[in-house]
Amino acid sequence: MSKYNIPILMYHSIELMPKSTVMRSLHVPPRSFKLQMWILKILGYKGLSIRELKPYLDGNKKGKVVGITFDDGYQNNLLNAAPILIKYNFSATCYIVSGGLGSSNTWDLEKGITQRPLMTDSEIKLWLKLGMDIGAHTKTHADLTSISINEAQIEINDCKRELENKFNIKITDFCYPFGQFNELICNMIKDSGFLSATTMNRGRATYESNRYMLPRIPINHRTLLHLFLVKVLTRYEDNK
Ligand SMILES: [Zn+2]
Repeated sequence: MSKYNIPILMYHSIELMPKSTVMRSLHVPPRSFKLQMWILKILGYKGLSIRELKPYLDGNKKGKVVGITFDDGYQNNLLNAAPILIKYNFSATCYIVSGGLGSSNTWDLEKGITQRPLMTDSEIKLWLKLGMDIGAHTKTHADLTSISINEAQIEINDCKRELENKFNIKITDFCYPFGQFNELICNMIKDSGFLSATTMNRGRATYESNRYMLPRIPINHRTLLHLFLVKVLTRYEDNK
């Protein structure tokens, strides 16, 4: 069986930000995002949420598919990305910090990183209604490897429970805050009833990838179209 690559794209904020923005690279301008989705469509790819990508990761389905993920749950995902995703009949997973609804990326405050609003309860409901999906990103965006096992379990369980209760949806997909995880945390995610977890490890996923250590392809402000294509279509990211 030849190696069947499944790129999973990692986005954060989709917004045109001024030059003074700290960590401006995390903000992909809507125009660039639109171009990226357009080129995927033109090439015959379908952009899918992690939930919809699962049969492909399991090897039960084959096709030209790309996973689309957004970390943290920024309001601009709903305002700027969702209309483009809908236009191309794509879906995507947004990883939500359950304790941060309607707030901002306060976990970045200490580093002076520019703050952007996170979706409120009703905005997430709208995101779901539009055919998009959500996953868990802990309760407070905690680095799970730097807190006690008990605290980590609470971060994971509370997030899953809160999102399931609020949005009446089964939460099966997780994303490690700051991309931080280890074997213990990995097993914890598995035992907590999740079916997948994405990392910040770079590369394209394959059917052989560990479901709880899924690599992704970072897309940022500086990812111009030719680099985007190289990242998705070639081995460029696989050994990064
Ligand atoms: Zn995050």
